[in-house]
Amino acid sequence: MQIKDLYKEVDEYIAIITEYPNIFYDNMEIIYRLALMHYNIYNEIEDPNLNDLTYVGILKNIDLVKDYYKKNNINVDVDKIISNGTIEMINHSAEDECEHATIGGVNNYINGHKSVRVEGNGTTMDGAILVHEISHYRNQPDTRRSQINNLFTEAIAYLEELLYVDYLEENGYKNDAKIIRRFNLNLSNRFIEDYYKLLKMLILYKNTRDISKESFEKYYSDENTKYEDYIKELTNYTSLHAACWDIFGFAISIYLYMEYKKNKLSQKTIDKLHIAINRSLNESIMLTNLEGIFYNDLEDIFNSLIEYKEMIETKELVKKH
Ligand SMILES: [Zn+2]
Repeated sequence: MQIKDLYKEVDEYIAIITEYPNIFYDNMEIIYRLALMHYNIYNEIEDPNLNDLTYVGILKNIDLVKDYYKKNNINVDVDKIISNGTIEMINHSAEDECEHATIGGVNNYINGHKSVRVEGNGTTMDGAILVHEISHYRNQPDTRRSQINNLFTEAIAYLEELLYVDYLEENGYKNDAKIIRRFNLNLSNRFIEDYYKLLKMLILYKNTRDISKESFEKYYSDENTKYEDYIKELTNYTSLHAACWDIFGFAISIYLYMEYKKNKLSQKTIDKLHIAINRSLNESIMLTNLEGIFYNDLEDIFNSLIEYKEMIETKELVKKH
């Protein structure tokens, strides 16, 4: 990407996020702090071996997800969205090739229809990805994603994934739950390693309207940072939005998960949130008790992240490989 195009893209990005209340734009520095907080707290989590996950196959994964929804009174007709082609499950490889399989999901609109694709390898992780992607599906507007939705959709999807992992733990897949939790934290941190550079460039642009080397060195003069690494990261990104929703989502989902564990957040509120995020940012913030965050109060979130770390560290991994 040429620098000229980059300015255009950053301008468009800023224009989109300032279309509605400036909470996100005004608080980009807070989002940046959330990213670093997540990174610092979880940077020494042991990387689990994905080959130790249980292979269950597509049908069992779908059954587990359906049972999870049923037990938690979550109103999603999995059979219907599979049979009408909205969800597509792709199996990449046998369990012995587990580590090389593509693990992830995509949520999109294809030819005017919602489309959910889960790419997995038949392990219990596929179910977690399915729950994550169905969560996005649930709050997708009928025609396109909305800006309000953008900010919260990742936070809810990661939250619902964490709750599903608890279900796995309670239903005979204890070690899988431990692996998926650790894997998710490490994966998020790998994203943050790139994203934080992106955020710093956006903050620079927001405050100076100039992302030249000269401006960068002046703005970040007391830090040991190399402009070339940063500008490279910015030019690498095709979707600046997606990166920012993710950063918000990583830390906020863990905060919401701990709130759920303390009975301060219910499944009913999560269901309300699916609707609220397309209607009002303020309503979403009230539902999640996140008012403080936009006054620079990150203490509750910090404490939740630490509590979550303590929770997963008391659970030892069983290694098969
Ligand atoms: Zn997602």
